[in-house]
Amino acid sequence: MAYKISTTCINCGTCVGVCPVDAITRGQIVHEINQDLCIGCGACAASCPVGAPVAED
Ligand code: SF4
Ligand code: SF4
Repeated sequence: MAYKISTTCINCGTCVGVCPVDAITRGQIVHEINQDLCIGCGACAASCPVGAPVAED
């Protein structure tokens, strides 16, 4: 299950460094997760100060 970053993201960049597959990049508005790379480990959600990454159904 891939994760997606919600609009609550404050672009702190913390999650970029914890992703084991380098799936997260800074987007136009908030950080974004490449759905094709994400392995659903949840590390980004655990590191995020505002809980922006959420698991997609
Ligand atoms: S769930 Fe894991 S693999 Fe997917 S973006 Fe977050 S840290 Fe990267
Ligand atoms: S850790 Fe959270 S607030 Fe920071 S860039 Fe990632 S998703 Fe956005």
